[in-house]
Amino acid sequence: MKTSEVMDFIKDRQVEVVDLKFGDFPGTWQHFTIPVSQVNSELFDEGLGFDGSSIRGWQAIHASDMMVVPDPETAMLDPFSEKTTLSLICSIVDPITREKYSRDPRYIAQKAESYLKSTGIADTAYFGPEAEFFIFDGVRFDQNAHEGYYYIESEEGIWTSGKGDGPNLGHKPRHKEGYFPVPPTDSLQDIRNEMIVEMERAGIVVEKQHHEVATAGQAEIDLRFDSLTRMADKMMLYKYIVKNVALRYGQTATFMPKPMFGDNGSGMHTHQSLWKDGQPLFAGNKYAGLSDACLHYIGGILKHAPALCAFVAPTTNSYKRLVPGYEAPVNLAYSSRNRSAAVRIPMYSPSPKAKRIEVRFPDPSCNPYLGFAAMLMAGLDGVQHKIHPGDPLDKNIYELPPEELKNVPSAPYSLDAALDALEADQDFLRQGDVFTQDVIDTWLEYKRSRECDQVRLRPHPYEFMLYYDV
Ligand code: GLN
Ligand code: MG
Ligand code: MG
Ligand code: MG
Repeated sequence: MKTSEVMDFIKDRQVEVVDLKFGDFPGTWQHFTIPVSQVNSELFDEGLGFDGSSIRGWQAIHASDMMVVPDPETAMLDPFSEKTTLSLICSIVDPITREKYSRDPRYIAQKAESYLKSTGIADTAYFGPEAEFFIFDGVRFDQNAHEGYYYIESEEGIWTSGKGDGPNLGHKPRHKEGYFPVPPTDSLQDIRNEMIVEMERAGIVVEKQHHEVATAGQAEIDLRFDSLTRMADKMMLYKYIVKNVALRYGQTATFMPKPMFGDNGSGMHTHQSLWKDGQPLFAGNKYAGLSDACLHYIGGILKHAPALCAFVAPTTNSYKRLVPGYEAPVNLAYSSRNRSAAVRIPMYSPSPKAKRIEVRFPDPSCNPYLGFAAMLMAGLDGVQHKIHPGDPLDKNIYELPPEELKNVPSAPYSLDAALDALEADQDFLRQGDVFTQDVIDTWLEYKRSRECDQVRLRPHPYEFMLYYDV
């Protein structure tokens, strides 16, 4: 919608309140709400002030006044509010300079798209994420968890899932067989359907939903591809809908990549392609029907994969997913067949328009604005420097003998390692000032001090198992 259309929409639909949403630095939506009496068309140019000092990873207290500027194109009715609520996604602007705020993830995504155009290589990058997530009955955090003490009740961890207190009716997916029997074994069909109906109502085109492999209530909903910033907006909305529909059913949904020990984790495989003047650039006559540009894009993704992980697998928990045996990639290789490779070339359709790559190491804990932007910058670096990705690895990488595996680089083992890789390899992100030095430094500092150190400082539940009785 354009601004004038939003103003008409507000009148026609008798909107009562307008909710202003923006993504914070790590990638969670924040919001505040204004009554409709405060809305006029200037809001879309001038914006509205708020205190940015308490937003994670943003301004220090001495320079904390900020403005939100709503994007009329993102207008939609919010389905989770009792009052008739118009929801708008906002960009962040400095009230004095009127410049866009360099730590606003949405601005970084927009800059990546402008940078792509400025290279002349392509004018559009399409992203199609396949996010997975778990739906649980409830979650118990130990009351003292933040003090550093846990009590472990079973080797599976502190989580509960499944169908609560009722009688056990026997229909449960067997281990690793969640993909994908019909109900009643699949007990989450109604809830996933309600999620995709809400998504389509909100303007997100959904390709499919299904139960995923993990037995403890894992789900996947796949979206039709869209351009970078629009897709990142949709991923924010996607998570909002998933969590709020789960709540309607008295359930809770999590995008944490590896909530269950011993079962599959949740990935966010991300399909990507470049287009210029309406023509696909990834189809050609090389391996798996790819163009040289596509092979080089893969080369860039694989070369920068350890640094990329700091943005696309950005939590300490992400590295509990990137281990052998659970359909998540470990080795940095590409293949048209192999789902154990970090980059797969889907072969569903011979059409050049369908030619794309699937990057498999991202997970849904990532900030989609930063994750998609970082992957585009890595791929573009590959195209610009003609980085060849080497030979494809058309074997099951999990089963390769150690001497063959030695030559295949691995994904980082921990968030610490990924952050070190980013510190050492960041020039590709700095091109066109897409990621400013301040953004990268702040990300490193935030992730190290607020996440890596905090996890390292606390006794781990499994340490009780190993060491209590030493
Ligand atoms: N859950 C797996 C992952 O972590 C993917 C499973 C699949 O989609 N084949 O990437
Ligand atoms: Mg899938
Ligand atoms: Mg899947
Ligand atoms: Mg996939």
